[in-house]
Amino acid sequence: MTKDDIPKDYDHKKEVEWQTQWQKANLHKFTGDGTRPRYIIDTPPPYPTGSIHMGHVLNWAYIDMIARYKRMNGFDVLFPQGWDCHGLPTEVKVEETQGIRKNDVPRDEFRKMCIELTQENIAKMRTQMQSLGFSQDWSREFVTMTPEYKRKTQLSFLKLYNQGLIYRAVHPVNWCPRCETAIAFAEVEYNENQTYLNYLEFPETDGEGNVLIATTRPELLCACVAVVVHPEDERYKHLEGKYVELPLYKRNVKIITDRDVDPEFGTGAVMICTFGDKTDVSWVNRYDLDIIEGIDEQGVMKEVSGKYTGLTIPECKKAIIEDLKSAGYLTKQEKVDQNVGLCWRCKTPIEILVKKQWFVAVKELTSQIKEATDEMTWMPEHMKTRLLNWTGSMDWDWCISRQRLFATPIPIWYCKDCGKVQLPSPENLPIDPTVDKPKEACECGCSEFIGEADVLDTWMDSSITPLVNAGWPEPDFKKFYPADLRPQGHDIIRTWAFYTILRCKALTGEKPFESIVVNGMVFGEDGHKMSKSLGNVIAPEEVIEEYGADALRLWAANSVPGSDVPFAWKDVKHGYKFLRKFWNAFRFINMHIAEFEVEGSEEMIIENLKPLDKWVLSKLNRLVDDVTVALETYNFAEARNRIQAFVWHDFCDEYIEAVKYRLYTDSEEMALSKEAAQYTLKTVIETSLKIMSPLTPHFTDEIYQYIGDERDENVSIHTTSWPAVKKDLVSDESEETGKTGVTLIGDVRRFKSSSGMPLNTPIKSTTIYTSKKELYDKLSGLKEDIMGTMRIKDLKIEMGKPDVQEKVVELEPVMAKIGPEFRGDAPKIVKYLQSADPQEVAEVLDRDGQISIEGSVLTWDYIESRKEVIGRTGEKVEILQSEELDAVLEVVRN
Ligand SMILES: [Zn+2]
Ligand SMILES: [Zn+2]
Repeated sequence: MTKDDIPKDYDHKKEVEWQTQWQKANLHKFTGDGTRPRYIIDTPPPYPTGSIHMGHVLNWAYIDMIARYKRMNGFDVLFPQGWDCHGLPTEVKVEETQGIRKNDVPRDEFRKMCIELTQENIAKMRTQMQSLGFSQDWSREFVTMTPEYKRKTQLSFLKLYNQGLIYRAVHPVNWCPRCETAIAFAEVEYNENQTYLNYLEFPETDGEGNVLIATTRPELLCACVAVVVHPEDERYKHLEGKYVELPLYKRNVKIITDRDVDPEFGTGAVMICTFGDKTDVSWVNRYDLDIIEGIDEQGVMKEVSGKYTGLTIPECKKAIIEDLKSAGYLTKQEKVDQNVGLCWRCKTPIEILVKKQWFVAVKELTSQIKEATDEMTWMPEHMKTRLLNWTGSMDWDWCISRQRLFATPIPIWYCKDCGKVQLPSPENLPIDPTVDKPKEACECGCSEFIGEADVLDTWMDSSITPLVNAGWPEPDFKKFYPADLRPQGHDIIRTWAFYTILRCKALTGEKPFESIVVNGMVFGEDGHKMSKSLGNVIAPEEVIEEYGADALRLWAANSVPGSDVPFAWKDVKHGYKFLRKFWNAFRFINMHIAEFEVEGSEEMIIENLKPLDKWVLSKLNRLVDDVTVALETYNFAEARNRIQAFVWHDFCDEYIEAVKYRLYTDSEEMALSKEAAQYTLKTVIETSLKIMSPLTPHFTDEIYQYIGDERDENVSIHTTSWPAVKKDLVSDESEETGKTGVTLIGDVRRFKSSSGMPLNTPIKSTTIYTSKKELYDKLSGLKEDIMGTMRIKDLKIEMGKPDVQEKVVELEPVMAKIGPEFRGDAPKIVKYLQSADPQEVAEVLDRDGQISIEGSVLTWDYIESRKEVIGRTGEKVEILQSEELDAVLEVVRN
């Protein structure tokens, strides 16, 4: 393509060509060779659902802008892309699409189905990522379900196990009956709803009375192991240590006291069930109470519940309430609000079950986590508090075993004879202990083993990404660790951020990353979370199709880390319009700068700059400085808005308009002025494109092809350097002068358009009057630009005020009055008014209030006049007050 073939309009469909070209040229490759400072991004590995949503767009747009900015600043950037494959959603999807439950087919077959689905989904999402122009180094892609990755997950498990930080124990766990697996506390979501508080009478065993107990979970009555009251509650003091009988079950339980009881809630007497909630767990531990398992793994009542065996929890609840009512135990029901814990994946209410599970000893690591957290830079800062608060609230260890299939196996065998744990050796990883066998016999001599069937929580895969990206466990991983940046959403601070800090600190003794940038969530245009049921979901493809990826990226850039962002079509359209405006400006400029080359030295040109050149170059250099600071501090909105305001208004609307006359001239005496304008245009457009390129990579590369210094096939704006601020061109004085020129040109432009004159209509002469010496001097320096731009043939700048007079130039007899009043004399009067000097007649009328014409006496009632303003030279002039400057313009039209 030659310089002359610039298409009339910018075509966003060309973005795809750029994406292909960048991949082909390997522009985003991380070399790691140490010749440049490294910048490593610990990109979040998304779950392969098969499609990218707007939340991803926001998150990745931030990452990509940072990556591109850093590359231009000389960094060797590692921007990898991973996929966090394992886990429930894929299993659930496979169950759905195949119409099976996980145990209907052999484990391996089920896993194969999951792997296939995941591979398809990754392929789709990879394509979507590329269509947004994100600049990952795809040679560094990692997939958590590959043997290579599983090896690392299992190795990290072994290392922590050997450090005593992973243990197996019987412990209450949060359990999702729908997913049939334990889940971690971080995966429990809380939801407010209403339920009934049931008042039940528990008969005292040695007395006549009853203890009234209020509970929301009567179905757990079979698992009640004690009744607890506050030690200072006068109502119950006499009952401490005594027993009550459970309604329906006729089993006796002891009354104990504990300060955690809230005497204000219900009746102040509480039944402890194993387990109704977290408080029950702490009471059971504190008082060493029995554990009765009333509910099984599918959420079905167990035999201990008696006649309710086999019922689901809601069925049991309904039935037992009826029975309690008819037996006279239930005395009252009242509506209360409750906070229910739900499984974050499927929204089923969680239960607390007692299970033999694997745990990471979080509580032993909290001080280390806090230490690492404090060593990192958090953006925004208050997200750090979120993590610290969460760390401080840890009272349960992290349950990492899951009773599912599609996951990294826990690399453990148990000896069939003595039950001792047998570990694989690191070089044999990864293993599936349900298939593979240990190479050696147990210490006890037995060589038969049972493989652990439980698998690892997926966060165990994803929370070692900084290590995986660094090449761990190879010894030189420290060269690439810690990562420089962790970008992620605030919804996964308690999980991904927390677990990564915990794991990496425990494995290396060091923090996993230097800085963490936390992005907000994306809402629908209606301000609600995007969801299919609300019908407010906008797919990124839809936006790209209509407006292109760059316009969508400009929407994403109009935000800052930490804040939730509503999707806004108007932002996208605004960005689209901006790019078109820029394109048109470029097309125009290109005619004038295509052949332009700096002859002689740049210093010489800078010497010859005109006031408006200095103005726009000063603003440009200030802009470069501001945008640099904005991107260094992740203030994307600031960068975007500054660039747009400058390019759109200062450059396109003001500067380009003001220099057109210099570009179109061929006169010898204006050669230097023309050259200065060409130089300025080229500098502004090239620099603006460079600082915009992290935001809109396709658009900027498209234009750069035409103006780049070496226009060969492989040149890309993304391999150029970030512009340096030319400090000697930044000047308050230049900016003030320039602003004066731009304001005055704006005044004349407004005058022309309000007078219905095309902008290129010449003006015969204009005199600008001001009483301010400073303004006079500035305007004198801008004379050429004002004249040239506004096509004023003769421009004078004067101190003082305009010397003008109002003159009556025409008299018009009011015939409707003159006719009836003067009858036959009327023609004489009209004739006189047409031939007399209008100004003289007006002066007599003004002085005497009347005038005698051929014997008839007339006043202003009979005559209308038209006035004009006349300047010093006697010509008709128009006076116009500048909107912002202390100046008055006297204009003589052509
Ligand atoms: Zn669930
Ligand atoms: Zn053994």
